[in-house]
Amino acid sequence: MNRSRRNFLKTSLGAAGLCMIGPSAALHALTAGDPEYPAGRLEAFPLAAVRLSPGTFQEQEEINARYLDSLSVDRMLHSFRLTAGIPSSAAPYGGWEKPDCELRGHFAGGHILSAVALASACSGNSVLKSRGDALVTGLEACQKKIGTRYLSAFPPELFERLAQGKPVWAPFYTYHKILAGMLDMYLYTGNQNALRIAEGMAQWAQEFMSGFGYDQRQRMLRTEYGGMNEVLINLAVATKNDRYLAAARLFEQPSFLDPLAERRDELQGLHANTNVPKVIGAARMYEVTGERRYRDIAEYFLAEVLAARNYAIGNTSLDEHWKTPPDQLGGTLAWTNAECCVAYNLMKLQRQVFSWTGDARWMDAYERTLFNCRLGTQNSQGLKQYFFPLAAGYWRAYNSADESFWCCTGTGAEDFAKFTDTIYFRRGSDVFVNQFIASTLDWKDKGLVLEQVTQFPREQGTTLKIKTSRPVARNIHVRIPRWTTESAQVRINGQLLEAMADPGSYLALRRTWQDGDTITLTLPMQLRQESLPGDTTVLAALYGPLVLAADMGAGPADGPMRVIHGRETEPKNLPAPDSLPKVTAPKDAKIDQWVQMDSQSELRFSVIGESAKVQLMPMYQIGDQRYSIYWQTQSLKKKG
Ligand SMILES: [Zn+2]
Repeated sequence: MNRSRRNFLKTSLGAAGLCMIGPSAALHALTAGDPEYPAGRLEAFPLAAVRLSPGTFQEQEEINARYLDSLSVDRMLHSFRLTAGIPSSAAPYGGWEKPDCELRGHFAGGHILSAVALASACSGNSVLKSRGDALVTGLEACQKKIGTRYLSAFPPELFERLAQGKPVWAPFYTYHKILAGMLDMYLYTGNQNALRIAEGMAQWAQEFMSGFGYDQRQRMLRTEYGGMNEVLINLAVATKNDRYLAAARLFEQPSFLDPLAERRDELQGLHANTNVPKVIGAARMYEVTGERRYRDIAEYFLAEVLAARNYAIGNTSLDEHWKTPPDQLGGTLAWTNAECCVAYNLMKLQRQVFSWTGDARWMDAYERTLFNCRLGTQNSQGLKQYFFPLAAGYWRAYNSADESFWCCTGTGAEDFAKFTDTIYFRRGSDVFVNQFIASTLDWKDKGLVLEQVTQFPREQGTTLKIKTSRPVARNIHVRIPRWTTESAQVRINGQLLEAMADPGSYLALRRTWQDGDTITLTLPMQLRQESLPGDTTVLAALYGPLVLAADMGAGPADGPMRVIHGRETEPKNLPAPDSLPKVTAPKDAKIDQWVQMDSQSELRFSVIGESAKVQLMPMYQIGDQRYSIYWQTQSLKKKG
């Protein structure tokens, strides 16, 4: 049994005034490998149990809510109504919602419903809930008018083209968004009509797909179909009706899943955002059937993408694809890196896989993507990024308010509505503190309120305040992130505990908690570097979980280089990128040989020894500037 010294408390806990529970006289700090570690799956709290407190995340949540609130129900219903034969004089939205776009409806009747349902449940936003209810009512009328349980903003002819092998964009992808939006309106706001609509839509899809033989179905599944399998499993769980589980299996694609089950990375050439949702579906299938193969698929895929295909910001892809063999990202830095939807889907998969084991690595990965690749991708008007440029000298660009409606506008609207959904998990009566975000968990069933007070990441740690009407015995598990140091500390009511779990695990604190108890975690950050997979001469600098970006000066003014109109996802006439900023450092240089901290409180850094001072800051704080997160190292010239 391998238990490190650090995994145990050595202090006299009586002196600290702690009341012990559990088999040992000492307060235990258990990690997932310990036999005593509680077994079983973790689960999220109901969304209504967690609320953000004032801070960066709450500001971002509110900006997103204001954007969603600015959208018109009648304009969103326009193409649905025309498709159903209901007159509409509303001005249609543009971009991917334009009446001639084959993805129309994906946002206007899909992502928007999920986003307002999440906003309603996560922040109690009743205005957005009523917006969602009105949209559901309008869409219900469309479904009734069509009369076949089909519901879309485009006619079923697009599905016929799919069946016939004729060119068509992605009808099931769009259908999935609407189905998921309806299910979310039911699950998170209790809208019963939305559930009826979803069941009708699912039945239509099942009957449509059942009309084809296996081979033809597999041909049809070569066209992007979003999370059709996942949403049908979720519907089966919500209704306890196995019919939808059978329907979900119609959307299973062995040609993609089999290599993953056999732990083979055959992702090269595949479209990233088409395929991550299939793995989420497989993970969901494991959760409801217990079939191990699906778990293997999800765990292998996630580990492989994180290790061999991710950039430092915690996201993957170039031109929306995996274009190289694994571990070979050299030469792939461009404008078109890291589509934001892929981050949304990777995080969804990370929290799912995390819930099976409580392995901190997945919450470390989630944190990395959250702080580097989600935070910062929304501007002050609530507009979202599509790509996350990683070539040097580029900048952030956003969708227009009403003429874009990209996929990433939709997944971004959902992400920025649900920051609370992963901060805390539970297992039995245990609480897991996964993310360091100012918030309050109100666990009504157990009479426990946990208030998390933190300025993280400006503050290197967090404080948890316990509120309870009576003493309550409880294990509180806190993530000790991989990026912290051996100097990490935990204090209970100000008293330092000598125990600490190893970085990259959870520290379990067992105690009968009293009202007013506090847990203070100090998690020192340090500078470190990571090379681009496959090119050890290209480095990124990180501080704690934060990727540092070089400030390369002002970016373009507001205009078409900043806000993209129409269906495009990148600005027209983009200039070539700069070459990567260079640092002179010996081969195998350590980070402190080329980066220094200038201000810990402001999170400002600079490059050592360069004639022109280059300032570095956390990537999420980059607003209008041009930036680079990668550096080209060049060796020191040997003298003599
Ligand atoms: Zn996208």
